[in-house]
Amino acid sequence: MAVHQFQAEVTQLLQLIIHSLYSHREIFLRELVSNSSDAIDKLKYLTVSDDAYKSIAFDPAIAISFDAETGTLTISDNGIGMDEVDLVENLGTIARSGTKRFLEAMAEDKRRDSNLIGRFGVGFYASYMVADSVVVTSRKAGQDGAWVWKSDGKGSYELEPGTRDGHGTTLVLSMNDDGREFLSRWRLEELVKKYSNHVAYPIRLSYDEDEYDDKGKKKDSKIHKDEQINSAQALWRRSKSDLKNEDYVEFYKNISDSEEDPLFWMHTKAEGTIEYTTLFYIPAKAPFDLFHADYKPGVKLYVRRVFITDDDKELLPVYLRFVRGVIDSEDLPLNVSREILQQNRVMSSIRNASVKKVLSELKDLSTNDKDKYAAFITEFNRPLKEGLYGDYANREALMELVRFKSSSVDGWTSFADYKSRMGSEQKAIYFIAGDSEDRLRKSPLLEMYRKQGVEVLLCPDEIDELVMPMVGKYGDLELKAVNRAGAEKEFEGKRDEKKDKDLAPVIERIKKALGDEVKDVRLSARLTDSPSCIVVDADDPSLQLQQFMKSMGRAGDFDVKPILEVNGDHALVTRLAASDDEALAADVARVLLDQALLVEGAPLKDPADFVTRMNRLIAG
Ligand code: ADP
Repeated sequence: MAVHQFQAEVTQLLQLIIHSLYSHREIFLRELVSNSSDAIDKLKYLTVSDDAYKSIAFDPAIAISFDAETGTLTISDNGIGMDEVDLVENLGTIARSGTKRFLEAMAEDKRRDSNLIGRFGVGFYASYMVADSVVVTSRKAGQDGAWVWKSDGKGSYELEPGTRDGHGTTLVLSMNDDGREFLSRWRLEELVKKYSNHVAYPIRLSYDEDEYDDKGKKKDSKIHKDEQINSAQALWRRSKSDLKNEDYVEFYKNISDSEEDPLFWMHTKAEGTIEYTTLFYIPAKAPFDLFHADYKPGVKLYVRRVFITDDDKELLPVYLRFVRGVIDSEDLPLNVSREILQQNRVMSSIRNASVKKVLSELKDLSTNDKDKYAAFITEFNRPLKEGLYGDYANREALMELVRFKSSSVDGWTSFADYKSRMGSEQKAIYFIAGDSEDRLRKSPLLEMYRKQGVEVLLCPDEIDELVMPMVGKYGDLELKAVNRAGAEKEFEGKRDEKKDKDLAPVIERIKKALGDEVKDVRLSARLTDSPSCIVVDADDPSLQLQQFMKSMGRAGDFDVKPILEVNGDHALVTRLAASDDEALAADVARVLLDQALLVEGAPLKDPADFVTRMNRLIAG
């Protein structure tokens, strides 16, 4: 017998699970049943796709039994099983990056929110909430020997060779005081029905029942019973009219490892040249790994009810990675490989139709249930914008789905809403991009638009900087950034030429003082209260985009200097106009530039210098 130490993270994870999920400890059963179901999925797939396994004939089943006297609960399956290496890797280490992320997220989440755990799926380790020790006996399909893994979940486990009839895995949990409540036929049946009813394989419960004689008197003997307690049907194959909301919700919790109800779902059966069924769910909350490159995809592929994969990022476009659910095709070959899937014609029609379906259902939701749609947008607006960027074929549909905050209304607004509020003389949709909604609302660049009663869409997501210029238009309305040089021309009416001329020397002095810090200094026609603002030329990247590229290590791509616009009516400027002190010109020029950068959220090169000059100006 060999004693092994758990990887440090495992011990950490175990502690977290036990402490934070304790009030939900009944989910351990769902987690173990789902592992068994996955193990059967894997073996079934091998028997249809791999010659080495074709000869294995088996009747998939998951068996649960218990013994109240010894205090044990046994869960057994005839799935793929694990050999020595698998046991070490799967139950002794945290190989999955998702779990590491989970630990990090938990460390950040001071509330120790059990919903957070729900969003990860804690798997096997959940058994330590109800058990003092767990013994796993497993035999891998195609191998002779079995292995026994044993641990009390306190830092180490033992591993030794053992025996088992046939392939599969058996878990024996020695229940702790809190786990004893589960050693009951009724409780187990209740939990299986609640959490695992739609697991595709039969779950059998065996138990002993008291026996009575014909006079109704209890006999000493007991009868042994063994019954299937779940419906074991692929839920998505049933017709919509047979299914209740509870069925959909239960199934969602099963496949998504989530404790929360989904926001909504769409169940489609296609019967044309290509036959398939899809059941897609939109989660109520964004998955924790939504913005991680190694996110776990949420859609499972089945071919004629046989599970094929749950790890293919190509089943739906990347921007729909938050969708959970199932695709079940009648037409794909069972032994379809990942490479084949990527270029398969059937798969690509299913994928295209699925995207259209999801987008059109979202469109319906946006008109039929505004509150729900707002909840959806709060979580998933950003991925939709990624879609605008990347999914050209569906751009029009996506244009109707994305939402913005606005300078003139509360809550979310769409391009269509904006258009409907526009004055008849307005020819474009205006937007301002930057790094926070709050900052955008206060931007000096909005002053002129406010004064003119023109609405501006607020774009605080990094991706907006890329998306908005690329999309370019909504119908025949151009999307215009308000921070562009010349953007004010449409509104300024006739320029005050005398004022322009009077102030030209001041502008020159500011430009001279700033040297090559700026591309140009101009008298602004768009400012009313603020003394200055930063704009860029029509073809130059904005300040935010430059910062974004810098953060991605691509600073060299462009280093475009900003254009400083100054407000000729502002006291700072008139004060400068009335004096020929060049030291004052230097202070005013720098302060005008630095404060314009500050309100844009850009870092100052020399904050101390800014403060000194500012104080000098105040002291007058
Ligand atoms: P998850 O199921 O989320 O991957 P678990 O901690 O529950 O995480 O399980 C870790 C791994 O152990 C699984 O991915 C699987 O490879 C293996 N495993 C767990 N239970 C079984 C089982 N009953 N049969 C075969 N393999 C299993």
